[in-house]
Parts: sequence; structure tokens; C-alpha cells
Amino acid sequence: MSDILDPTDNELHKTIVENLADGVYLVDRDRQITYWNRGAERISGYGSGKVVGRRCFDNILGHVDAAGNSLCHSACPLAQTMSDGDPREVSIWLQHADGHRKPVRVRTAPVRDAWGQIIGGVETFSDDSAFLQAQEDAARARHDALTDELTGLPNRRLFDAALAGRLENLVRYGWGFGLLIADIDHFKAVNDTLGHVFGDAVLTGVAATLRGAVRAGDVLARWGGDEFAVLVEAPNGADLLDAAQRLCALVGQSEVRLAGTSRSVRVSVGGTRAQSDDSAETIFARADGALYHAKQSGRNRIEIAEPV
Ligand code: GH3
Ligand code: MG
Repeated sequence: MSDILDPTDNELHKTIVENLADGVYLVDRDRQITYWNRGAERISGYGSGKVVGRRCFDNILGHVDAAGNSLCHSACPLAQTMSDGDPREVSIWLQHADGHRKPVRVRTAPVRDAWGQIIGGVETFSDDSAFLQAQEDAARARHDALTDELTGLPNRRLFDAALAGRLENLVRYGWGFGLLIADIDHFKAVNDTLGHVFGDAVLTGVAATLRGAVRAGDVLARWGGDEFAVLVEAPNGADLLDAAQRLCALVGQSEVRLAGTSRSVRVSVGGTRAQSDDSAETIFARADGALYHAKQSGRNRIEIAEPV
């Protein structure tokens, strides 16, 4: 059997298969490994002497899926291919000879004799780390594009998208919500007297307090500068006022401590409930107007603008 499933019985085949970057191995009908190339050695850490003659499910590679489920006895792609003749391509994790798990992209194909009978299978596998790394990099880039670097809060771009979604849900399902804008009072004075680094610490500290002050379904973002915006699930005006009072009170009761200096800041909050004909611009204009009034009438205050 191993003669039939030995691609190195021909010098040209030998040169080609041995020098592939991918791992290549062959199994016979009993899933006994008959051939193992250098690429397979490099990726798996197992030399062919350790592998050829053993069966692929004999605790060698121990293929698992992303949930850690063993594929060897129930869902081995190579065994499935040998059973139905269909090639397969899957991402799985093999166990390297030194024990760690390694992501590989696996492709399987049946090996047939001259009469078309399946007499074994061939599996090629390539190191999938670069692919996973690229996926991780893309996810990080997406995260960075939507996150404020200083505070770690969602940024304005993410907030805009969330606001658009809430406006749509208000029209479609009648789900009420409100918008609050909290702006730190006299923040310029903090920068001027304690320096920009302390100012940054104030922004980070206020962000952390606000994060703990909003409810699970709310969306909090750094709107820019010393302004924070919150989308509040608010079926009625009392809910919105409650949320605004929580933000104001908790920031007022917090302190920023840095290098032996501590300082408290206050915020003024302007807010409004959304109405069904609102756009992002109109709801922001009302909340901004309310914030302006809160600042004008002494700061450390809340103003809620009624929908018109
Ligand atoms: P008001 O009570 O009217 O809000 O007064 P204010 O001094 O807080 O004035 P305003 O909100 O206009 O000032 C915002 C300041 O925030 C101006 C800007 O220098 C400062 N600022 C904006 N972004 C940052 C930042 O990332 N770090 C620091 N340290 N300061 C920032
Ligand atoms: Mg301010």
C-alpha cells in the first residue's frame, strides 16, 4: 500500500513535493500515514520518522476546531473526504510537537486508484498564523478607528453611527431615547494652572466615572475636547433627567489624583429627548442649546430642552 501512496517514487515528484512550503501528507485507507514532507516537518515540528507508519488520529497532530473540539474521531476532514470523495478546506489548529496549538489552513483530497476507487487521502496544510494575524490587525484597526485614544471611550464616529441607529429605531419601533451632552466646567483653567498632563488625567478620570454612571444599554462617547455625549434609553423625561443627575452627581463626587495633586471638576449637562422627526443635527442642536443655558445659568447644572 505504501508504494501506491508514495509520491516520492518518482524523482520529479519527490523534488516538487519535498520542496513545497506547505505541509503535505498521505494516508492509506486505514488512515495510516505513508508520506510526510519537509513542509509538514517544519510546520508541525514532527520529523517524518516519528510520523510515517502511524495513524493520523494516533495522538500526533490532534486537530481541534476553534472551540477546542477534537476532530480526529468525529469530524476529521481527511476521513470525510475519503468517505465521500469531496475535497475540503478548513481552518483548524494542530498540536505542534512542543505542545502549543498552531492555526493551519487544511485542504484535503481523495487519492484514487486506476479504477476510481478511493485508496487513501492527501492533506496539505499551511501555517495560518499570518492569516489570523491579519484578521487581528484588521479588528484592531477597526477598534482604533472607533475609539478615542486618550480615554478609551467610543469616539464621535461610533457615536454618530449609534445615534443614526437609535433614530431609525425610534421611527420604526417607537423606542424612545434621549441625548445628553456633558461638558467639563472651566476646564481651560485646569490646563492653565495644573498643566496639560493633569488636564489629560482629568479627561480620563471623568471618562471613567461616566462609564460607571451610564446604564448597560446607553452609549457613552467622547464627543471631543472636554465634551462627552450619551445616548440614554429614556421612554420618558424623568428617565432622562435621572440619567443626567447621575452623571452630574458622580463626576462632582469624583477626584483626579496625580503626582500628589488632587482636583475635582464639575460638569454641566444639556439634554433632550428624541422626537420622531429628528435628525442628528436637530437633536444635537437642542441638546447643545440646553447645554449653553446650563453654562449661562451658572454651570454645574442640568438643562433639559423639551422636544418642539
Ligand atoms: P466652560 O465651563 O464654558 O466649558 O469652560 P471651559 O474652560 O471648559 O471651556 P471649553 O469647554 O471651551 O474648553 C475646552 C478646553 O479643553 C480647551 C482645550 O484646550 C481643552 N482640551 C481639548 N482637548 C484636550 C485634551 O485632549 N487634553 C487636554 N489636556 N485639554 C484638552
Ligand atoms: Mg468645558
